[in-house]
Amino acid sequence: MTRLAQTLGLTEIQTEILANVRSFVDKQIIPNAQELEHADEYPQAIVDGMGEMGLFGLMIPEEYGGLGESLLTYALCVEELARGWMSVSGVINTHFIVAYMIRQHGTDEQKQRFLPRMATGEVRGAFSMSEPELGSDVAAIKTTAKRDGDDGYVINGQKMWLTNGGSSTLVAALVRTEEGHEKPHKNLTTFLVEKPAGFGEVLPGVTIPRKLDKMGYKGIDTTELIFDGYRAPATDILGGAPGRGFAHMMDGVEVGRVNVSARACGIAQRAFELGVKYAQQRSTFGKPIADHQAIAFSLAEMATKVEAAHLMMVNAARLKDSGERNDVAAGMAKYLCSEYCAEVTQASFRIHGGYGYSKEFEIERLMRDAPFLLIGEGTSEIQKQIISKGLLREYRAQ
Ligand SMILES: Cc1cc2nc3c(=O)[nH]c(=O)nc-3n(C[C@H](O)[C@H](O)[C@H](O)COP(=O)(O)OP(=O)(O)OC[C@H]3O[C@@H](n4cnc5c(N)ncnc54)[C@H](O)[C@@H]3O)c2cc1C
Repeated sequence: MTRLAQTLGLTEIQTEILANVRSFVDKQIIPNAQELEHADEYPQAIVDGMGEMGLFGLMIPEEYGGLGESLLTYALCVEELARGWMSVSGVINTHFIVAYMIRQHGTDEQKQRFLPRMATGEVRGAFSMSEPELGSDVAAIKTTAKRDGDDGYVINGQKMWLTNGGSSTLVAALVRTEEGHEKPHKNLTTFLVEKPAGFGEVLPGVTIPRKLDKMGYKGIDTTELIFDGYRAPATDILGGAPGRGFAHMMDGVEVGRVNVSARACGIAQRAFELGVKYAQQRSTFGKPIADHQAIAFSLAEMATKVEAAHLMMVNAARLKDSGERNDVAAGMAKYLCSEYCAEVTQASFRIHGGYGYSKEFEIERLMRDAPFLLIGEGTSEIQKQIISKGLLREYRAQ
């Protein structure tokens, strides 16, 4: 083994796509990320470059103008992008989840209406489950869609934490429709809300108030969304029938978990690269700090975590691509990759000594980005719930 996080068995096309993305990351993202992040500036030139490379349509089938690639290809691209700057991977993440949900669950009309424009990046997706009072407890959603005549609904309520809320033009929003089902999650429905990009009242009854100020994950916009009497046609219900929204969203976040795992792998790799370089440049007590056993062992631990996380992520992606159920594998990957990412990032930060605390050093940004991965697409506690539920199903005592 020479380098960390190599993936065996890739096709020529996958290898070529990844080489292009890595080169783009090294030339366009890494040199600009720190400045853009500190200015909290939207990385428009980088996003345009990703569009030119076809990254918005990576997993959209070729018949709709996409590249028709696998989840594995997508996840490996995300790993590369996050190695450069996590926010850039966040730009395509929600887009990818919404395109995936439409591909899997949309009506033919919805696929024709959205997928070709999503493949080019002309339509950009955001997905919205969370509300001010809930994130983990999705079935408790309060935003309502009430029937308004035979062919429409009126939506009222407040959604929270929309990644790409302002820059997106299509929001997949999970809301409550009264289907009269005794199980709360069976009364949830996903609406596809097409809107202009921007802030303020972007459509009658749809307001994106402002960009939220965050600890990290800067540059990219995270917003609230307020529905106030928004009238939605029934044809905007994902899949055409109400009451299936919870299942649609859970399918979406399952692939989203592989994506978050990939982001964690990318950040951990970058933290390792920075740590192993600095450890050879900085000397104390007459020798490079890499020659002190404590630091060398720390590097060994970091590298082992980077490698293990990559393997778990690749396994979860390949399982999904094979058509197998991957809830447990995706949950395990998300749990392990995000926790290891936080640990590796902190170990690299320690290796940097006082300079790690300086805004001139990249590790400072990674230290603020990594914690989000412990939360997004379900916290570690929620992953443990999913994993244990799956295990108890599989290993049920007779
Ligand atoms: C920057 C950012 C971007 C985001 N982007 C999006 C987005 O695009 N779309 C979207 O829908 N959401 C998004 N989210 C929301 C995110 O998914 C939620 O924050 C996350 O699911 C956690 O929900 P919560 O914040 O309500 O925490 P809570 O659910 O209130 O949890 C609080 C704490 O309690 C723990 N906990 C909760 N329930 C249990 C339990 N049953 N057992 C044990 N522990 C439990 C949690 O693990 C956590 O530690 C984003 C969040 C952030 C910070």
